[in-house]
Amino acid sequence: MTGVLALQGDFAAHGRALEAIGESWREIRTPEDLTGSDRLIIPGGESTTLGILLKLAGLETAIPQRILDGMPVWGTCMGMILLAEEIEASDQFRFGVLDVTVKRNAFGAQVFSFEQGFPMKGLEEPVHGVFIRAPIVTRCGKDVEPLAEIDGKTVAVRSGKILGTSFHPELTNDSRIHSFFLSF
Ligand code: GLN
Repeated sequence: MTGVLALQGDFAAHGRALEAIGESWREIRTPEDLTGSDRLIIPGGESTTLGILLKLAGLETAIPQRILDGMPVWGTCMGMILLAEEIEASDQFRFGVLDVTVKRNAFGAQVFSFEQGFPMKGLEEPVHGVFIRAPIVTRCGKDVEPLAEIDGKTVAVRSGKILGTSFHPELTNDSRIHSFFLSF
């Protein structure tokens, strides 16, 4: 059973993507919801808002505890920001479990959103990336593997059972990255 954090953002799209590949899932809104989940997806949304909602839900310590205990986790866009150890020019809330630095809204203040194809390690055919006010990874710690980049900017990383993507595979019909995550 995959949990999808459902306090804010595009969690329903992740649910549909999981259903398309036959994976059962549940919305995570409380620490009790998390107990019954084997893995967690943190969707896109607004990371500063989510920091507040996580504290209200009592999930701000329950989630990083499970991750440190070995639960696989995948953050898309905002989700990756929350996983990061460092966020450039910000002291906003984050779980700090992924040894990277991220830069929010890294593709410019005006052009917030675009779509682009690019290769990703482990996948034979290119990925079609949907970027919505997307972050990039500007520093990878020594155990962090960059999986994809566009124009020299890192947009997907893996460290053990932690996956981060700047883009939104759940907004395409391509379920390969969901399947990849389920193999963790
Ligand atoms: N710009 C958002 C943030 O900084 C992330 C956008 C997204 O998740 N699509 O939190």
